[in-house]
Amino acid sequence: MEIKTHEVIIVGAGLSGLATAHFLRKARPDCDLVLLEGGDRPGGAIRSCHDHGFLAEWGPHGFLDNVAESRELLADTGLDREAQRAPLKKFLRYVCHHGCLVALPQNPRQLLSTPLLSTAGKLRLLGDLWKKPLADEPTVAQWAAHRFGREVLPLVDAAVTGTFAGDFERLSIDAVMPGVRDLEQRHGSILRGLRHKKREKGASGGEMPAMVSFPQGMERLVEVLATGLPVRTETPVRAVRREAGQWRVTTENEELRGAALVVALPVNPALALLRELSVPPVAGLAVARIANVLLGFPNQVEIPYGFGYLAPERERRFALGAMFSTHMFPGRAPAGRVLIEVLVGGRRHPGRIDLPDEEIVARVLDDLKGLLPLTSPPCFRRVLRPSAGIPQLEADHPALCRWRRTLEESLPGLHLCGFGWDGIGMNDMIKAAKRLATAVVQGRRGGDEAAPVKPVYF
Ligand SMILES: Cc1cc2nc3c(=O)[nH]c(=O)nc-3n(C[C@H](O)[C@H](O)[C@H](O)COP(=O)(O)OP(=O)(O)OC[C@H]3O[C@@H](n4cnc5c(N)ncnc54)[C@H](O)[C@@H]3O)c2cc1C
Repeated sequence: MEIKTHEVIIVGAGLSGLATAHFLRKARPDCDLVLLEGGDRPGGAIRSCHDHGFLAEWGPHGFLDNVAESRELLADTGLDREAQRAPLKKFLRYVCHHGCLVALPQNPRQLLSTPLLSTAGKLRLLGDLWKKPLADEPTVAQWAAHRFGREVLPLVDAAVTGTFAGDFERLSIDAVMPGVRDLEQRHGSILRGLRHKKREKGASGGEMPAMVSFPQGMERLVEVLATGLPVRTETPVRAVRREAGQWRVTTENEELRGAALVVALPVNPALALLRELSVPPVAGLAVARIANVLLGFPNQVEIPYGFGYLAPERERRFALGAMFSTHMFPGRAPAGRVLIEVLVGGRRHPGRIDLPDEEIVARVLDDLKGLLPLTSPPCFRRVLRPSAGIPQLEADHPALCRWRRTLEESLPGLHLCGFGWDGIGMNDMIKAAKRLATAVVQGRRGGDEAAPVKPVYF
């Protein structure tokens, strides 16, 4: 068997692997690295869909431009000049509330007048100032009800649906929003903590970010990142082990050796690969799969201006929500048409994804009819069922992260990043990749990031 040696072997060429390789090469242009990718293309969950002049996404639709590492990646690759930006300030987001779409408040003045909360519910938000932090590891729902009152729960549910397609009665607040939890511990209240942060940041602190994509879709990002990187596709890694001070990586027909091994995989495939090295505290994380139902309409159909809407579970809708894609990013539909992407399934309704296409489309249309003035039938319809699921950061996540730290500390040159370890969003992946690349170059462990408070979570 042929044995090749590299300085750094990266397993997985999704965004995490590609961004790690990018930052490594940036810091050390002569770094001898290789990316081993099991699939037939780099990019993992990031994949765009072009069909009959419509442009939609199998995976992420965009990321916010408020993270320095992601802006750096865009600038390094020249993609900042191509990027399309949809500012949150300009585009409303709606919540399904008692069967109607209501715009989410964007500022404190709008919060005062929103019909989403009663006067008592609005006053209860201030209860946060007096509530002691909950001990243990509460769920997002328990935590939100404790701090801000039960009336706020449908809004929190909608927000968590929009990011995790998750169940807020299972997601762990410590895993989902560690920065906010930290703020709570330090200031005894989120509102007090946020006021303190705002004062620290001064006038520059209040800017709302924009959602970024590209005229060719999100796949453009991974295409450009992969250009010039030594990515070997259709090379699934079967086993890794440490021997004689080196990493040995076994693929189907060869063994590679490396001083450093970066496992840039979603949590579950990473655990499958690492189990031989150490048994993890849990078998794996739950994942939430979603179907994306693409619907094209003649543009006489009036869709409220904005990003889209989300529906909390309480509303008992079929769809989790929808994106008004042609509003966010123009050019996603042929002339005279608009595109809506409707999300179905998630943690609470996995069975809905497997319904036949005609049934999903029919039930989605039935659902939408009650919310949007759909005066014409769709002229385009397609159901996408991405194979990637979204890892759920539930009660077992903190223990898993402690296990990862111990493993990295005990095995020199081992680094773990990827979907579900340091969060689930693209910005989380890019930040972790930069941190990890710096650590590899410096020959130390990556370390965990001090919990950040994000200005916008969902
Ligand atoms: C449906 C969906 C919607 C999303 N929407 C958003 C969004 O709007 N905004 C946002 O910020 N984020 C979103 N995300 C999250 C975002 O897609 C992820 O943060 C990101 O793509 C994860 O990248 P990754 O490289 O860690 O994992 P992946 O993309 O899963 O890549 C891992 C790669 O490793 C390969 N691999 C697996 N096992 C092996 C092995 N043994 N050997 C070799 N290769 C292997 C896989 O083939 C894959 O290419 C969404 C995710 C999904 C699934």
